[in-house]
Amino acid sequence: MSDTLQPTIGLEIHVELNTRSKMFCSCPNDPNEQHPNINVCPVCMGHPGVLPVINKEAVRKTIKVGVALNCQISTHSRFDRKSYFYPDLPKGYQISQFYIPLCQNGYLRINGRKIRIKEIHLEEDTGRLVHSSKDNCSLVDFNRAGVPLMELVTEPDLKSAKEARQFAQELQLILRYLGVSNADMEKGQMRVEANVSLGKEGRLGTKVEIKNLNSFRSVERGIEYEIKRQKEILDSGKRVIQETRGWDEKQEVTESQREKEYAHDYRYFPEPDLPPLHIDSVYLKGIKAEIPELPEERRKRFVREYALSQKEIEVFVKNKDLGEYFEKVVSELRDWVKSVERKIQLSQKEQKKLIKLSSNYILTDLQALLKKAEVSGEDFLITPENFAEFIAMIYEGRISSRIAKVVLEEMFKTGADPSHIIEEKGLIQIQDISEIEKLAREIISVNQKAVEDYRSGKTTALQFLIGQLMKKTKGKVNPQKAADVLKRVLQKY
Ligand code: ADP
Ligand code: ZN
Ligand code: MG
Repeated sequence: MSDTLQPTIGLEIHVELNTRSKMFCSCPNDPNEQHPNINVCPVCMGHPGVLPVINKEAVRKTIKVGVALNCQISTHSRFDRKSYFYPDLPKGYQISQFYIPLCQNGYLRINGRKIRIKEIHLEEDTGRLVHSSKDNCSLVDFNRAGVPLMELVTEPDLKSAKEARQFAQELQLILRYLGVSNADMEKGQMRVEANVSLGKEGRLGTKVEIKNLNSFRSVERGIEYEIKRQKEILDSGKRVIQETRGWDEKQEVTESQREKEYAHDYRYFPEPDLPPLHIDSVYLKGIKAEIPELPEERRKRFVREYALSQKEIEVFVKNKDLGEYFEKVVSELRDWVKSVERKIQLSQKEQKKLIKLSSNYILTDLQALLKKAEVSGEDFLITPENFAEFIAMIYEGRISSRIAKVVLEEMFKTGADPSHIIEEKGLIQIQDISEIEKLAREIISVNQKAVEDYRSGKTTALQFLIGQLMKKTKGKVNPQKAADVLKRVLQKY
């Protein structure tokens, strides 16, 4: 019987917007503030008689997200008062949106399926409680009170824990592309609550809300656990209670926190201290024009423009800056290919090879150097122009992969261009064939064993001799050239 039980998940996601000031006052919105209760004023502390003022930037950023997620934007919207008591809520109510959210009826595609977005609204964050077991008390920090908080609510369209995680990850990426929030889950800038139910095909069961999902991993693990827990309850013929449960990351269990509250518990009513919002078409057009290329479009374009693997593309899409660096390098290389000095024409196949070579070096060596600079806090000095030149040199065989490492390290240290470096450091390849031949003869004369092996058909012997030649020249000979010359000399020998 339980085989026909299907999990259904709906998400409620809160996102702190990266505005300069708070939602209804001019206090700084600084998520990194270390000193408690420093970014506060009578407005966000809820003193009597003060008047809130709507933060335009927050409204704009929320609508931007709504547009990016295919929502209808309300032409007339407003704020509502949500009353409840909690020590981190200085006013005794939160200004939120209940009746007419800014954005409604959107969707985000995950695995090719539309996950419907019920609404996206704007509200204010609460303060933060700090529980101190040492002093046996709780402290409250109001720096976060009144920070603009965007809430996105999906329809119950997700079908697995993994899919819920993918939704949250794709949303985070979109928020970053839009530049509206860093949406770091570990820092609480993005907070995911998951509603989970099990029902027989086509019907929804009683849902349980899970809180305290503080990482993508927790989102997936918490939902998985809850699906299993509910399945066991239903299998034993009992009923699931509608409640809120908290995810305990260490124990990997959900624990009951409270039974469900209803909208009427909050006594919602239109916020009398704020004017309604009118969103006109000119304003909306302006926002639409600001929407950048989004992750999904970028994936598709990368597939069209560069012959890369899905895996490589995903790294470039997830790491937006790295993807943009890659594109600049390729664009430089395309110019180089076209440039008048180049006598030969490169075939499509050769151009693909060049792109692949760039991608390989960017995803390995360059990324390692970027990390190194990030850790040490240094500026990253390798420009895409210089890096493209570097790739061209490798492609043309002007430097071996061994020399390439030395050159790149030097580029990282000084920011110099690669042609300068190889000249200055005397890393230029030996071009003179007679010189290479002379060296090849020397190598052969002291490696008779390898020569005999080669004669008797062992191909590894040639590799060994090439290696010796590379070593002798400190890598300053093109490996292909070394192989050709060695073969020739061995024939005559
Ligand atoms: P409530 O009235 O309890 O707040 P809502 O209809 O506002 O419920 O939905 C809250 C969240 O719960 C939404 O993300 C929605 O998709 C999700 N949800 C609603 N019903 C279910 C269900 N049966 N199973 C899983 N998620 C659900
Ligand atoms: Zn304030
Ligand atoms: Mg609700």
